[in-house]
Amino acid sequence: MIKVGSTSLTLVQGDITTQDVDVIVNAANSGLLGGGGVDGAIHRGAGPQLLEECRTILARQGECPPGHAVITGGGRLKARFVIHAVGPIWRGGTQGEDEILASTYRSSLQMAADRGLGRIAFPSISTGAYGFPMERASRIAVATASAFVSAPSSLIEIRFVTFSRNDYAVYALLLNRDGTHANHT
Ligand code: ADP
Repeated sequence: MIKVGSTSLTLVQGDITTQDVDVIVNAANSGLLGGGGVDGAIHRGAGPQLLEECRTILARQGECPPGHAVITGGGRLKARFVIHAVGPIWRGGTQGEDEILASTYRSSLQMAADRGLGRIAFPSISTGAYGFPMERASRIAVATASAFVSAPSSLIEIRFVTFSRNDYAVYALLLNRDGTHANHT
């Protein structure tokens, strides 16, 4: 855990769908209608309401481009809201992927702050099927979150939830000075 102003940046290994926070972030795709990985897990956990809300948003505003996000209710999840954020597909690092990933985190944080939410949980966006290198992505995630909360906001906790132990270890280098292993849901 590190503290930036009054916000804690925390690290948990586990399943994002069971996190007891105000809002969880989904690593969605531009089509917004669900998919594999964490997207599939969140839709399964939340139930059909999520897809219905995503369809309504899609009909109203079209696809969500990489770097942007939309928000729905949380359905049956503990979290009251889900932010569906679209990360970049890794194309070798020369197509603006770093800046798009930073923008994905920023858009999500802004959306949570605009609603006055206190606790937000992120998965490791773009590092699964989208192929973004893990270490590089974790540095961008933590740097973007730190920069965002260097100005006052409603956010009291930004929680990074890693599915695998390896990903946990990568984030721990940035967030856990003592390197201890926490396991919460
Ligand atoms: P992307 O398409 O943005 O790369 P993926 O869903 O393929 O998204 O992967 C993003 C990350 O989410 C990966 O590190 C994957 O291991 C992780 N992940 C998959 N399921 C879960 C889950 N239930 N909770 C948290 N993280 C998850």
